[in-house]
Amino acid sequence: MSFLDDNFLLKTKTAQRLYYKYAIDLPIIDYHNHLDPKEIAEDKQFKNLTEIWLQGDHYKWRAMRANGIAEEYITGNKPDSKKFEAWAETVPHTMRNPLFHWTHLELRRYFNIDELLTEKTASIIYEKCSSALITKEYSVQALLSKMNVEILCTTDDPSDELQYHQKIKKSNFKTKVLPTFRPDNALLIEKEDYLSYLEKLSKSSNIEINSFKSLITILKGRVTYFHELGCRLCDHGLSNIPKAVISVKNASFIFEKRLKNETLSESEMNCFKITLLSELAKLYSAKDWTMQLHLGAIRNNNSRLKEEIGADAGCDSIGDFEQAEGLSYFLNSLDCDGQLPKTILYNLNPRDNEVFATMAGNFISDGGINKVQYGAAWWFLDQKDGIEKQLNTLSNIGLLSRFVGMLTDSRSFLSFPRHEYFRRILCNLFGNDIENGELPNDEEFVGKIIQNICYYNAKAYFKSD
Ligand SMILES: [Zn+2]
Repeated sequence: MSFLDDNFLLKTKTAQRLYYKYAIDLPIIDYHNHLDPKEIAEDKQFKNLTEIWLQGDHYKWRAMRANGIAEEYITGNKPDSKKFEAWAETVPHTMRNPLFHWTHLELRRYFNIDELLTEKTASIIYEKCSSALITKEYSVQALLSKMNVEILCTTDDPSDELQYHQKIKKSNFKTKVLPTFRPDNALLIEKEDYLSYLEKLSKSSNIEINSFKSLITILKGRVTYFHELGCRLCDHGLSNIPKAVISVKNASFIFEKRLKNETLSESEMNCFKITLLSELAKLYSAKDWTMQLHLGAIRNNNSRLKEEIGADAGCDSIGDFEQAEGLSYFLNSLDCDGQLPKTILYNLNPRDNEVFATMAGNFISDGGINKVQYGAAWWFLDQKDGIEKQLNTLSNIGLLSRFVGMLTDSRSFLSFPRHEYFRRILCNLFGNDIENGELPNDEEFVGKIIQNICYYNAKAYFKSD
């Protein structure tokens, strides 16, 4: 078998048949990513491969730093061609890191380049890709169409006017580009600039924020505004669900203290956060939205780097927060009120795989859908090993067949082959089991399950037509 050939990751004949017959042609529903709606609306043309590949990609930055590349070639002022050379020099050293597979899959699927990227091939590949990128076939919208992206959901702050989503909606671009409501800034009451964020939020609605009640009123208005533009998902990035009792009365008192710039204790902040989360969840439930909870990152560990480059500089890691009790209390309290929204739980610490999968199973069925889903392998776990572990955990503890599948969580318009990567791994697992005699040799039935996980389950779950 040669590197990245047609049967890449498909180790059995059955896996190969499953992939080519059932998975390869399905459209993509990328229900969580960090793509810039402005770049989609304006149908941006990237001027070279560095701009589309290296700007903002902290996965690559980390690898370059680990390979001893100086920061000026990573996030600094060196020319794009020099930055690319530094990346190309790093690529051979990324073997066995997912970046090695992603990089070469992207070169093949977007640019038909089969060569390996190394120091020696750097300039040819850079020239070839960069001269393609400035043509119309490589505009942002063309890249998304090329990958058969049917729906993509960006990540947006509640104060966002969503003018680019409006512009895309009015255009005749076939991919549905929908906003996602991500109110982390409204929750992070400990942040120094919290009050100036509230001002920004207040301006988006022309309502003064002078109480917890008015904060909820504004957020409710923003949920409605987002909903009108097709938003059906929200997202929260938290270390864990704070351990505190939900109390609107206490949260109101705590919020007023914050408005007066008084210092809050840890337990007061936790009470505010879980109460606001709970109020938001009820709004999501009323709109039949899906609530995504990305839990477990410990961010900005290197404050010097954060100072120099800003957030998302590539110095985040896996945290070891306690997850189970807070999640259990939070989901259960919403369920008891009949206001638990559809929910996807993503863990960053792999020790929590089983915890999250079992937690999802407690609130599982609602009219034929698995209401609380155990989400796809995320961030540091988004590689072959992590994807297999997530799929196996879900198989062992829940029903893999009802899983809503993969997303890129990406900042790059070239990252859509990650869906192909996931589909190959999925087909390989089923193919192995069939050939081992651990599953019946019913390719048609298994093929349907694969199609559901790759596409139809997400379509039904998010109610996208
Ligand atoms: Zn994300």
